Amino acid sequence: MGSHAVYNGQKPHVVCVPYPAQGHINPMMKVAKLLYIRGFHVTFVNTVYNHNRLLRSRGPHALDGLPSFRFESIPDGLPETDVDVTQDITALCESTMKNCLTPFKELLRQINAGDDVPPVSCILSDGCMSFTLDAAEELGVPEVLFWTTSACGFMSYSHFYRFVEMGLSPLKDESYLTKEYLDTVIDCIPSMKNMKLKDIPSFVRTANPDDIMLNFLLRETERAKRASAIILNTFDDLEHEILLSMQSILPPVYSIGPLHLIANKEIAEDSEIGKMGSNLWREETECLDWLDTKSRNSVVYVNFGSITVMTAKQLVEFAWGLAGSGKEFLWVIRPDLVAGEEAMVPPEFLKETADRRMLASWCPQEKVLSHPAIGGFLTHSGWNSTLESLSGGFPMVCWPFFAEQQTNCKFTCDEWEVGMEIGGDVKREEVEEVVRELIDGEKGKKMREKAQEWRRLAEEATEHKLGSSVVNFETFVNKALLGQR
Ligand code: UDP
Repeated sequence: MGSHAVYNGQKPHVVCVPYPAQGHINPMMKVAKLLYIRGFHVTFVNTVYNHNRLLRSRGPHALDGLPSFRFESIPDGLPETDVDVTQDITALCESTMKNCLTPFKELLRQINAGDDVPPVSCILSDGCMSFTLDAAEELGVPEVLFWTTSACGFMSYSHFYRFVEMGLSPLKDESYLTKEYLDTVIDCIPSMKNMKLKDIPSFVRTANPDDIMLNFLLRETERAKRASAIILNTFDDLEHEILLSMQSILPPVYSIGPLHLIANKEIAEDSEIGKMGSNLWREETECLDWLDTKSRNSVVYVNFGSITVMTAKQLVEFAWGLAGSGKEFLWVIRPDLVAGEEAMVPPEFLKETADRRMLASWCPQEKVLSHPAIGGFLTHSGWNSTLESLSGGFPMVCWPFFAEQQTNCKFTCDEWEVGMEIGGDVKREEVEEVVRELIDGEKGKKMREKAQEWRRLAEEATEHKLGSSVVNFETFVNKALLGQR
């Protein structure tokens, strides 16, 4: 690893712009740190809302930064609030797209006008913040886009235009959204076989021609072609064919994951840079002590990520399903997990499961998913969660909520053979049954063995200097960010 990258005789300066949601900020922060230890000056740009949230969750000095790692912020354009809740993703996509370019350009101007940092030499932006491309082109610097999705998810988004061409989206009206429609076989995406329409990211299933998310994804995937390169948090062995077929339709695509494994190997946790965190909620670390008291592969870990919401009824079904399984569980219930009201589980459930569960509202998930007491993961199939589970060698029960989670679920269950899906309209009996199967059953055992294989391959991909993702990382840095041949 070169710890002294140079660009035009100076320290290269990368401006990192994550999409303002937890599942995007986390992997961007990892890339930023890895660039920092390779000698880059880093400016990390949060939205004002998240900047303030991070100060509340991590303390007033959390964003002081280092001389060569600085935090800046730009407004997201949504009405101001100081309540820590998940923002409306649709409104956020529309607002960042429309409102962020001007303040971003102004920020770049200010950075370059100062004389205490090297001039901005490249931009690394989230794929869903493609307004940054206009600023990079104006400034004459290369821009790399980071799609924080799986390759299968991104490939599906990149083919949304085909669904529109084929008349599959948008639908004439809601009445066309039938089982038959969802079961339509999709064979227009190269290297993705046996797909049905229900496995394609949720935004395609709309009857509104002006649907914001459908149009947003059509636009962002088209604009992705303007990037110098695209990076993905996945690894070659996991999504080989898809990654190959992407190369023919997009700028160079580099698979550089699982990023948390590379970061763990290269950055000491107690170093100044290692201590920098990106959690928008305060982490409750007590659950790790609780896990330490449990036997190997015995605990079900339940977490639906940062955005998923459910109804109060669904929460109750999950609760009684977990109780009925008789298994020990660690369940993270975000305060805003239930849409429109406070997330509350029944007091009788709390009483009945008191000696075999731990509840938390936010946890250090990467650490949880590398703890030997975990037996399996009940997840919403967010990409980071899926990758963290594969890296830990844990099988999953998938309850996908939206976006490309449906595609991740399909691949987790059918291609990677480490998952079982439960129906959207969740029932306690089903939860009880799959959770038992996950921990004790024959299928659970097979899935755990398979997950262990993926864990080994993820370790290999991130092996120091030699792993495919580490080699790809160096190539992306040298070619796309530093402009070397
Ligand atoms: N996460 C965490 N603690 C929690 C829940 C989530 O640290 O209690 C992290 C998790 O490790 C992952 C991210 O938040 O990196 C969630 O991203 P994911 O893509 O899985 O789902 P999203 O929140 O985007 O739906």
